[in-house]
Amino acid sequence: MATGAKSTKNKPQGKSGKMENSAFHEFFVDELKDIYWAEQHLIKALPKMQEAATSPELAAAFEKHTEETEGHATTLEQIFELLGEKAAAKKCDAMEGLVKEAESIISDTEAGTMIRDAGLILAAQKVEHYEIATYGTLRTFAENMGHTEVVDLLEGILENEKETDVALTEVAVSSINEDASEE
Ligand code: FE
Ligand code: FE
Repeated sequence: MATGAKSTKNKPQGKSGKMENSAFHEFFVDELKDIYWAEQHLIKALPKMQEAATSPELAAAFEKHTEETEGHATTLEQIFELLGEKAAAKKCDAMEGLVKEAESIISDTEAGTMIRDAGLILAAQKVEHYEIATYGTLRTFAENMGHTEVVDLLEGILENEKETDVALTEVAVSSINEDASEE
């Protein structure tokens, strides 16, 4: 929408003239705390998924994304700093639920099977899609508030989550789903 950007730009920014004091800014920071908790939760969950995986390709994908997830948490800390806010985590109910689902898949499937891997990929892709939705929206919020540096950092995380989702699909279609259907 061509006029959208203009009207956002001309919006009054509160009495002090600083977006930092607005309710929207507070909401934005709260949501950053939520995803910061989610990333920290994933740093603990992904190695368990790696250990549970049958195929070395899937285990390697989880190992890679654990490192990347540590990077996401560090980037979020940078974002808090840029915003002049203390880095704090606020429990993310959605991510807690998604990780519980991954744990159920592990307990409901047999170790050493490709069905286990197909299930782990399903759980992991739900996580990535949750992150993609979250970072996409947060990036737009940052854009609206004129936090250019924060936009770039959020965009970087978003791209990595998308790449991870694509990589998981590739592992699934290259062998796992076919093998799982034969078990
Ligand atoms: Fe992440
Ligand atoms: Fe991720």
